[in-house]
Amino acid sequence: MSSVRDNVDPAEVAKFDALASRWWDPDGEFRALHEINPLRLDWIRQHVNLSGKKVVDIGCGGGILAESMANSKADVTGIDMAEGPLAVARLHQHESGAKVDYRQATAEELAASEAESFNVVTCLEMLEHVPDPSAVTKSCAELVKPGGHVFFSTINRNPKSFAFAIVGAEYILKLLPAGTHEYEKFIRPSELEAWARHAGLTLQDSIGMHYNPLTKEYSLGENLDVNYLMYFQRD
Ligand code: SAH
Repeated sequence: MSSVRDNVDPAEVAKFDALASRWWDPDGEFRALHEINPLRLDWIRQHVNLSGKKVVDIGCGGGILAESMANSKADVTGIDMAEGPLAVARLHQHESGAKVDYRQATAEELAASEAESFNVVTCLEMLEHVPDPSAVTKSCAELVKPGGHVFFSTINRNPKSFAFAIVGAEYILKLLPAGTHEYEKFIRPSELEAWARHAGLTLQDSIGMHYNPLTKEYSLGENLDVNYLMYFQRD
């Protein structure tokens, strides 16, 4: 990669920019992120006490996870490449009182200037939107201090995840706007684990995120076939 800003897909960033004003509408296009946030925040907090920790949230968007971690008493930096969601995130914290340091940057860029600066790195629902997710994984490993904690979430790549995450979620149940995800960019847990391992991260735990269309509720469970989270510690 020739520049620390090369690993960005402008079409992806434009997609999130266009929807920025809707970010905090709990019934809008980002409803799914609002609904899964308590579950993923709980899972993160089961593994690390966020209080007093220096945390960076990579691909923070409008700040749903970043604010919730700041409310858990973490010192949070949020980075994203889309200007619209960052502007919304900055405005929203004036209303909510959460304190997050939002910056427009890539993970690669931040890793070049602030390596080994964070106790915790979170990178949720972001890897499947970048040209080279292995490079982001490596930057996340560089950003965290030795012994620190790194959390990823993304979507598995197999026929079931195509049926559930694209056909089901975008076209039948309309949980997400059509075109949110591209199947080719989905990432198998074995791929993410291998990229992370090569970057000096050791897998500690993983869990699936499931949606029940009958109860309309999300839950965490063992099956990693569709949406999943992974937790690593730096060696
Ligand atoms: N992590 C947030 C938002 C997920 S949406 C959450 O889970 O609540 C994906 C976000 O990744 C969008 O805000 C998009 O602008 C951002 N993004 C996409 N490519 C990026 C890149 N190369 N660097 C930083 N952010 C990026």
